[in-house]
Amino acid sequence: MNQEFWNQIQCKDLLKAVSEGKEVTWINDNLEDATKALLKINLAMTDIDGAEARLAKFAPFILKVFTETAPENGLIESPLTEIEKMKILLEKEYNTEIPGRLFLKQDSHLAISGSIKARGGIYEVLKHAEDLALEHGILKETDDYSVFASKKFKEFFSKFKIQVGSTGNLGMSIGIMSAVLGFHVIVHMSADAKQWKKDLLRKRGAEVVEYEDDYSKAVEVGRENSDADPTSYFVDDENSVTLFLGYAVAANRLKKQFEEQNIVVDEEHPLFVYIPCGVGGAPGGVAFGLKQIFGDHVHVFFVEPTQAPCMLVGMASGLQNEVCVQDFGLSGQTHADGLAVGRPSGFVGGVMTNLLSGILTLQDYHIYDLMRDIVNSENIFLEPSACASFWGPIQLMKDEATKAYIEKMGLTSKMVRAIHVPWATGGNLVPQEIRDEYMRTYLDK
Ligand SMILES: *Cc1c(COP(=O)(O)O)cnc(C)c1O
Repeated sequence: MNQEFWNQIQCKDLLKAVSEGKEVTWINDNLEDATKALLKINLAMTDIDGAEARLAKFAPFILKVFTETAPENGLIESPLTEIEKMKILLEKEYNTEIPGRLFLKQDSHLAISGSIKARGGIYEVLKHAEDLALEHGILKETDDYSVFASKKFKEFFSKFKIQVGSTGNLGMSIGIMSAVLGFHVIVHMSADAKQWKKDLLRKRGAEVVEYEDDYSKAVEVGRENSDADPTSYFVDDENSVTLFLGYAVAANRLKKQFEEQNIVVDEEHPLFVYIPCGVGGAPGGVAFGLKQIFGDHVHVFFVEPTQAPCMLVGMASGLQNEVCVQDFGLSGQTHADGLAVGRPSGFVGGVMTNLLSGILTLQDYHIYDLMRDIVNSENIFLEPSACASFWGPIQLMKDEATKAYIEKMGLTSKMVRAIHVPWATGGNLVPQEIRDEYMRTYLDK
């Protein structure tokens, strides 16, 4: 990095620390009133509601082909669980205080693909299938969508391809759903993708192409191949509005869960949500939905690994996707495979500009300790990437930057009534032998 580069960027001191691989907390000085900030964005609550309505139409189909969704009547939704024992353990182990209540949003346990990608990824495949079926006159909007499970539809979709680049979990969601619908699906997997994910996908009928490069390369080649083929559709993790809206539906569902559990979020009961971030689509979509619903009462923080803090370097420098973590001398490599992304989505960075409260980073060894903590305290297994979310509640009342944020926002006296939701983004499909291996990793740190 030359001097000229450093001269043109914001937040120099913080980014210098980032470039040294240090753990940092960045508070977004561009955060604005939610109402004002949301007006600048080209997407609205009606778009999220539209996505939710489409998922409801597909519920009879999903129920038919994925019977595990029966308890939710064909909706793909995860539990919201209070984790009091984990709260006590974290407070003790990390010498911190988590005032209020601590809940876990268990997207790790979403049906079909066991990660947050079951929201956006599956939604985009369903929408594309619907578009094709309508366009070719085999479907009317008023039809019962369980016809998507028919042999006729499967044969129809077999003439089309879907392609995606992925570090693993997005590929699983796109791959599994596309294959069930009958598509020829090709998943371009980066070097970070775990072997078991590739194996599982192949078993489900997806074609897996492996790369020795990182995620950006897998996406680039996937996009090129797909664009060159008129029968092929590319799921663009970096730019897709459809994917983003699929994630955003989570906020509507969370609001309902809060109501069912008599949890109040308002002026006096602030909500803090902490979401692990890779390219940004999943946490960005969820954050956008949450700001639409809870406005200024929700404070959203992303969490990233110290070696792959792509959204942090993009947003803090003000250069968005014009920079990557390698520009800051970082490797982009991390045990948090779901977060191993070097360059952020420019689209998501733009949407988050005035909505996101901040971003925290943590070193890899913490995620394994946190994974053991949640197993030991609550008997819930999460994949390492997902455990980055706990860094938020640990640091909130401990880190100088977040402490100053709490004070500045006038929240100090309200914290006793705070609701904290670390977003557990994945884990349920991790095979037992891999879990055992994870449980032994970085034990000596
Ligand atoms: C993909 C993923 C994320 C982050 O989502 P992005 O859209 O890449 O930011 C977080 N956790 C897990 C487990 C993931 O698979």
